[in-house]
This record gives sequence, C-alpha cells and structure tokens, in this order.
Amino acid sequence: MKINLTIPIAPEPRRVAALIGILAAVAATTSAAQDEGPVEKINAEAAHATIVSTPIRGGLTVLSGSGGNITVLNGKDGRLLVDAGISLSRSQISQALEAIGTGPIRYLIDTHYHWDHTDGNDWIHARGATIVAHENTLERISTATRVDDWRFTFPVYPISARPTVFTGAKKTITFDGTSVQMQYYGPSHTDSDIWAYFKEPDVLSTGDTFWNGVYPFIDNENGGSIDGMIRASNANIERAGEATIVVPGHGPVGGRRELMEFRDMLVAVRGNVAALKGRGMSIEEVIAAHPTAQFDAKWGGFVIDSALFTRLVYNGL
Ligand SMILES: [Zn+2]
Repeated sequence: MKINLTIPIAPEPRRVAALIGILAAVAATTSAAQDEGPVEKINAEAAHATIVSTPIRGGLTVLSGSGGNITVLNGKDGRLLVDAGISLSRSQISQALEAIGTGPIRYLIDTHYHWDHTDGNDWIHARGATIVAHENTLERISTATRVDDWRFTFPVYPISARPTVFTGAKKTITFDGTSVQMQYYGPSHTDSDIWAYFKEPDVLSTGDTFWNGVYPFIDNENGGSIDGMIRASNANIERAGEATIVVPGHGPVGGRRELMEFRDMLVAVRGNVAALKGRGMSIEEVIAAHPTAQFDAKWGGFVIDSALFTRLVYNGL
C-alpha cells in the first residue's frame, strides 16, 4: 500500500538510488560467498558516494548517501549532527555541510556503534565536535567487534573518535534554542541504540531501529534481536505524533504511519518464523519455507534480502 506522507518529503528517486546503491551491496555479497565482504564493498562505494541534502524543518537537514542517514541541525551557534556516515565520503559530506552552514560543528550524536553511522567520528571530532552516545557505543568501539553476518571485525577506534559525553537512559542538550532529547532504547538493533528527538521542530531521528521501506539489519551478536526491534518500534510509535517527521537510519524520511507499517511487518515475520522454528525446523528449512513472502515486494526488493532477513529473525529468537 502506498502511503501518502503528511510531510513535504517524498522518497525522491535520487536519494533512494543512493541508499539502494549502498545497501544492494549487502544483499549481493551476503548471498554469494566472496572474499570481499559487504563492509569492504560499501566502503569502496562510499568513496564515490553522492550525498543528497534534504531540508526538512526547524533548521534541520538530512544528508543521505554515505552509510546511515545524517541529521544536521544548523543555527547561529553552529551545527549539531546525528550520525557521521562513512569516512571515505568525508569530502562529499564536508561539501554538503558547507552548503548548509559555515558555523562550527559543536556536537555529534552517535545513534549506535555501527561503522556506517560512526566511521566519520574521527574527522568530525577533529572539526571541533564533542561526541555524544550511549555508554555501550563507547564499549563496542573500544574493542575489536566481530559481526559474522557482515564477515567483518571492526577495528578499535582511536581515542579521538570515541564519545566523551554519555546519555545513560536519557539526556537533553539545548542547542541553538532547540531541545535535543536523547533516549536509550535498550537492546534492539544493537545494545547501543538511542534516538534523538528535536522537540520544537518535532523531528525524531531513530538510527537503525527504523528502516523505512526496507528490511533491517539486526545485530544479534551485539545485543540486537527481532524482539528488541519490535520493542523499539513501539517506543518510536509512542514518541511520534501525527505531525512528527521521522528520520530513519536507512531509507527516505517518513512519519508515524511508516513506523507502524514497519512494526507490523516485523511482528508478522517474527510470528511466521517463530511458528516454523517452534516445529523444530532448521534455519535453512525455514528460509526455504519463505516466511517473508507476503512482504518481499514492498520490503525486500532492494536491500537485506528475504533469506538474510529470515536468518536474522531466526537467529534472534
Ligand atoms: Zn546499524
């Protein structure tokens, strides 16, 4: 079903193409055994990424095209960023930031530890930003972290790329007259996820607890699970009002209705996979039974494919 957004943002084709270009690599490389994993491939693409800049409201702009979406708050005090993209896209991201404003970058909020959201920490910190995150983001990036589903071990981040201000369960920063409220989801996509809610403009940046229109990745090895994703989706829906603009970790900007569609898809697939697993079926048997069939046309066309998503749900149960 095509939802008519109540906000002045459409899934603009170039932006979607940029996202798909990166995420298609995940599907392609996870379905075929190759030496080069999805991380290497995504990094290679990030070097040539086109960054698409989408103004939303209240001084906020979304930059898409290098890893996860980046939310930028620009005002007379400078800029605040939510997520940092992939560092190989630094020159394109810098250019896009210059086009938004020339004030100093004062804060960078990491929604979670994954490299496609934190790889730019180092250079953005070097530009003056204080990095804010949940304590578990610091823990994850302070050691080498293995993600088998990506066939990659993320290296230890240098001290200069690590957060120094922590959210705990909740934290609010007032920046340029806007209240930026951060809240920890609990274990969901990883064990380090927070949202950033911009109160006055009513904009919610969810990080990877929400992928708009595409199957999500779930980091089972590092605190994530399908049930955690469903809990986080319900928290997002509770936070969002009818007029809230929601910036997902991946995919175009959406609203409360898209959050609900995403939650409903997660709940249905979880139910299907759990029923098959409960009958004692192996992971390969469950994938062959195609428990995502009714959702693939909408959610599985471009990104994490049906088999990988089924695997992620199965392994998290
Ligand atoms: Zn992630």
